[in-house]
Amino acid sequence: MCIMINKKVICVLLILCLAVTAVAVPVGVTVAKTEVKTVVIDPGHGGMDAGVSSTGGVKESDLVLTLSRILADYLESGGFKVVLTRKNKSALTEGKFIKKTDMQKRLKIIERAKPSLVVSLHLNSFTDKSRRGMQVFYGKDDSKDFAKEMQSVLNDEFNLPDVKRDFSALYADKYLLTESPCSAVIIECGFLSNPIDTQNLLDEKYLHRLAYVIFQGIAVWWSNST
Ligand SMILES: [Zn+2]
Repeated sequence: MCIMINKKVICVLLILCLAVTAVAVPVGVTVAKTEVKTVVIDPGHGGMDAGVSSTGGVKESDLVLTLSRILADYLESGGFKVVLTRKNKSALTEGKFIKKTDMQKRLKIIERAKPSLVVSLHLNSFTDKSRRGMQVFYGKDDSKDFAKEMQSVLNDEFNLPDVKRDFSALYADKYLLTESPCSAVIIECGFLSNPIDTQNLLDEKYLHRLAYVIFQGIAVWWSNST
């Protein structure tokens, strides 16, 4: 075994391994502990705050929790340490739901985890039901490069083939994006107001593919930034 293998090589090998095994979580693929980076995954909303919903009643809060768990599995299998801000369907606040308190609790979890990256997962909705596409947002300059890279990966894998257009990463003045002590992005992973996006997001294979593409974007960022 080659013990001099570097992080970038491990990362490329990992991506190749995952590409071959399609959506299966690879077994036994790890990196040295000293090289582990922590990623916080933030499944948006929860509890009384369902986020947006489809006409059939599919909730953003439920779908992004499922997607977050799949993404966490990919990242952990790839040697990342993962912290979820929300582990179940409940909101982070006890008793009466207060959005500001919920967001402050998420930030506390992020600060405690001392991560290298925060990825907040959400779904979109719009009055024009034909609107589709995956959009990445950032709130600080230190997040811009990662946001651009992630947007590019999502454009190549989803937006260009499915929606026939690409998107640019956009600035957004959102609490977690501006207050996080590290690079942080929000990924809006499709529109629950669109029937095709909704159908896709209810397909487990599609969710695995989406989680894998996001994982790829994170792995490439990690490879290039260390
Ligand atoms: Zn949302």
